[in-house]
Amino acid sequence: MDAAHILVVEDEPKLAALLRDYLLAAGHSVECLANGLQLIPAVQAREPDLILLDLMLPGRDGLSLCRELREFSDVPIMMITARVEEIDRLLGLDSGADDYICKPFSPREVVARVRAILRRREPRGASASSALALDEGSWKASYRGVEMDLTPVEFRLLNCLASAPGQVFSRDQLLDRLYPDHRVVTDRTVDSHVKNVRRKLEQIDPSCTPIQSIYGVGYRFEL
Ligand code: CA
Repeated sequence: MDAAHILVVEDEPKLAALLRDYLLAAGHSVECLANGLQLIPAVQAREPDLILLDLMLPGRDGLSLCRELREFSDVPIMMITARVEEIDRLLGLDSGADDYICKPFSPREVVARVRAILRRREPRGASASSALALDEGSWKASYRGVEMDLTPVEFRLLNCLASAPGQVFSRDQLLDRLYPDHRVVTDRTVDSHVKNVRRKLEQIDPSCTPIQSIYGVGYRFEL
């Protein structure tokens, strides 16, 4: 199984440390948050592959966080509750969580369930491109749930590259798609639009460089 980036949102330090140690031992990378208010900004900065979310948290409760996350992200969420009866209630409330686990739990069981959820996940290509949402009808683009402010040409550029991940497009091919009316523009125009789109992606996720330059050839999109 691929290593995943897992966000543990749990305010009991010992429990958070225990989960972190077991998940690290299973090969995942782990970030721990102790306050509910930290979660949404953390997910917007870097969407994890899975979230372990305690129901009762200082700042904000797990249920309202789960619902807000579902407005912009389909990241798998495993909800941690203190009482078994809570699980029935949460199921009835349609919290949006993928799985529930009740305290006290065995960390081994958590790791096993995490593995099961990650296995059900879409293949890598599909989940990577779902981080980027492009709506051709409204010309709206969002990356990791954050709306991007793109010009029409930038939108077409990103749409073209992202429609065929891994495929290299020459500058000429991109020019044809960016300016269907064959306005006279130079190769440099493509480069400057690419630069702008990259900057806008990096504003959302500084570690994100999905548009790669292929020296002497052109560009390709790969997350
Ligand atoms: Ca708690």
